[in-house]
Amino acid sequence: MSIEIIGCMIVRLVPLAPEHLWREGRQVRYTPGRLMNRAQVERISKALADATRLRIFEAISRSGHMNCGEIVSMRGVTPATVSHHLKILSEARLIACCREGQFVYSQAVPETIEAYTRALTKISSGKKTPRRRFLSQVIKSASAAVCSQFLPSALRASLFPQSASPKTPPNNSARPQLALTLDDPTLSLGSVLKWQDANGRFLKAISDKGVRAALFVCGMRVDDADGAKLLSAWDQAGHLICNHSYSHKFYGGQTNYADFAADFLKNEKVIAPYRNRTALFRYPFLKEGETADKRDRFRALLKERSYRVGHVTIDASDWCVSQRYVDRLGKQLKVPIAAYRDYLIAHLLDRAAFYRQLALDVLGRDIRHTLLMHFNPLNAFALLDVMNAFEAAGWQWIDASLAFEDPTFRSEPQTLPAGESLVWALAKETGRFEDRLRYPGEDDVYERPKMDALGL
Ligand SMILES: [Zn+2]
Repeated sequence: MSIEIIGCMIVRLVPLAPEHLWREGRQVRYTPGRLMNRAQVERISKALADATRLRIFEAISRSGHMNCGEIVSMRGVTPATVSHHLKILSEARLIACCREGQFVYSQAVPETIEAYTRALTKISSGKKTPRRRFLSQVIKSASAAVCSQFLPSALRASLFPQSASPKTPPNNSARPQLALTLDDPTLSLGSVLKWQDANGRFLKAISDKGVRAALFVCGMRVDDADGAKLLSAWDQAGHLICNHSYSHKFYGGQTNYADFAADFLKNEKVIAPYRNRTALFRYPFLKEGETADKRDRFRALLKERSYRVGHVTIDASDWCVSQRYVDRLGKQLKVPIAAYRDYLIAHLLDRAAFYRQLALDVLGRDIRHTLLMHFNPLNAFALLDVMNAFEAAGWQWIDASLAFEDPTFRSEPQTLPAGESLVWALAKETGRFEDRLRYPGEDDVYERPKMDALGL
């Protein structure tokens, strides 16, 4: 079996996390710097309990990153079992798989081991924390048998007093998954809606679905006391607070690296106060630089600051549908919002189907998707309907933190101009999907004629 074939096989077999994993992730979110929950401690312990798997993890850690052919060539590792071992290591977040050209590489995730070590230190110190009872509830629903092999006997007794045989929740999530990412929260929504009302509507809709979103903050729109109130509401609801630059500059043409970098760093101060601040950066307009030098220098800066790119996989032009709605409100008193809402929903579902299929064709598997929407009036009114429509179309909403764990988000497409949806860029990089790729990937020029025809 050639390396390429094995590599492709792994891409397909790298699994979506079973439902119970993301459910637990939603209850106790693990982020670097915070204490890892016990379910995750157990998962990692289980993953490393197998001698072959431990050797694979050791080899990947030592080499920096390995492709699947190199792993198969290790003594005692067969092609038939390597997928299984990588799956378990990946689910435990000990490794991430990323594609470089036609090869798939596995690399260690050092943050996981660091957090695991901190958690074990905490456990062995024997100090009780307020979360202990809750965490023990979580762990009781996981696999006691496996956990019991690794925990100190005293802790084991406290967590599993009756040596019961807990049931593992079923994995019935064969549905495509997506997370909501919302860009550009703002205090200025014109006369249509007060920001407080919009904020309340967004948060209520997301809360109704029981998930957590990622909010990409552009500092200049929220840089005062009211802005802090707006962001605090998201932070307190457990949503990720992420960096979208301070001034929303287009990283191309006039904007050089130094200006763009300074603008990114300036925004760090705006989001710094929040508990759920997360080191994810989203490029304004999804433009990542028109030259290799600009693209690579900023990517290097992100790594230096321990950031990852908050990629969009499902891009759309929701902003222009809302703009048309607002423009019409400026011209006439009563505007049929249902028609705009329905167009928005149809448009988003259409784009989601397009990018899902493209991802399947490029990567050979369903990735966890991130949908881009904006903090605007139409979305504030329609978000719950949008989320319901996605569910009716077979999609499953998940936490943004879980979506961004998909190894695909660690890819660095070598395209120029760089940017667009991550799926678009990965497809572009292969050179095999030119007939399906337009540039830009999404824009109002594609939607305007259709909306004109509908009288919207
Ligand atoms: Zn933006």
